[in-house]
Amino acid sequence: MHTSNVAPMTRAGDVAARMTAIADEVAGPAAADVDDRARFPTETIEALKAEGLLAALVPVEFGGGGASLEEVSQGLVSLGRRCASSAMVVAMHHIQVACLVRHGRSEALQNYLQELAGHQYLLASATTEVGTGGDVRSSVCALEVTDGHFRLEKQAPVISYADDSDAVLVTARRTADSPESDQVIVLCRPPGLELEQVGEWNALGFRGTCSTGFVLRATGDADEVFPESYADISTHTMLPMAHLMWSSVWLGIASDAVDLARRFVQREARRKPGTTPPAALRLAEVTVVHQQFVDMVQSSLARFAAAGTDADRLSSIGFGVGMNALKVSSSTLVVDIVRECMLICGLASYRLDTPFSLGRHLRDAMGASLMVNNDRIMANNAQMLLVLRGE
Ligand SMILES: Cc1cc2nc3c(=O)[nH]c(=O)nc-3n(C[C@H](O)[C@H](O)[C@H](O)COP(=O)(O)OP(=O)(O)OC[C@H]3O[C@@H](n4cnc5c(N)ncnc54)[C@H](O)[C@@H]3O)c2cc1C
Repeated sequence: MHTSNVAPMTRAGDVAARMTAIADEVAGPAAADVDDRARFPTETIEALKAEGLLAALVPVEFGGGGASLEEVSQGLVSLGRRCASSAMVVAMHHIQVACLVRHGRSEALQNYLQELAGHQYLLASATTEVGTGGDVRSSVCALEVTDGHFRLEKQAPVISYADDSDAVLVTARRTADSPESDQVIVLCRPPGLELEQVGEWNALGFRGTCSTGFVLRATGDADEVFPESYADISTHTMLPMAHLMWSSVWLGIASDAVDLARRFVQREARRKPGTTPPAALRLAEVTVVHQQFVDMVQSSLARFAAAGTDADRLSSIGFGVGMNALKVSSSTLVVDIVRECMLICGLASYRLDTPFSLGRHLRDAMGASLMVNNDRIMANNAQMLLVLRGE
């Protein structure tokens, strides 16, 4: 067992409350600077580390918090309200941690999980590749395994916060002779990890995710290759986790926009007592849509929790179509809601220098449908629906 650098997580039950406090006290005040300078949200990640929250999803017996996905999702909503970039970094980290918890069955990976909890490591991910674009279910690069060691080189056009992470989970073809879809996932970490940066990250939104391109070169112990195929890991964990965690972040953005719109309408009402501001009806309408968003995320979390580790349920077409629907719906709703809130707040939201500004919300929201393009997800669902049987 590795020694811990941080206070152990003895209060797993209040994970959401502690993430919310960090969102309000640390992430929110730093958000404008993170966005302006497209810089990594160091203070927020350090605050989460100090509270042991990067291991919130790691089981207690491995030194983590043993928190539920619902708690982490709630914490991500709070972070998304204050700084969507910070929230997205944390969401992406937890997706990788969940893969390690549920599929890291080799001794080396289990030891690493304990190490991660003790040292509060931050995990990044490299699935996207030059040549396959957003088609994360195929790889060009391939593992070379000799004498119990692997070697890998990947042209990765986007690895968020790679320079600030402690390790990267990377997809690759199983061998140089394997077809593009026969993929594995491997833990790549120092000292066997070399990241050569290619280009800069100067994007419209999620600027603090620092999602730069890299040539990734790695060597390591062959036991750090996940024993299961990436196809299974993706279907059972990575895809549903990604859609749930991302949706939580986007719900946070939408929730803050609705809060701002409500405060704006209430201010208008106070200015003219006895009258209902014209935008109040639009606020009522957007609140209905926001409630649908909240309920959709909660019911999807419940569906994933109910499936547990039942491979048949997790692999079923109905489950896959549902999780894809969550991603497409929530990435669309976040933009719709922010746009409606802009209509409610008017020029005050369009300007960048008022308390009702929604500029950053809108820029961040626009990234949601591109993070694995909604067209690709719909094309997937279209294929699955061809063979889905009714109840
Ligand atoms: C903020 C942010 C952070 C990210 N972080 C990471 C990260 O840490 N690690 C990582 O690996 N990736 C990351 N990504 C990458 C992301 O998940 C997508 O895979 C990537 O953005 C897709 O790139 P693309 O739009 O150029 O490619 P594509 O998905 O190839 O899309 C390009 C165009 O091709 C169309 N298209 C092509 N083929 C099809 C098809 N078969 N069906 C339907 N449409 C198709 C799309 O509709 C679109 O118009 C991140 C992205 C963002 C926005």
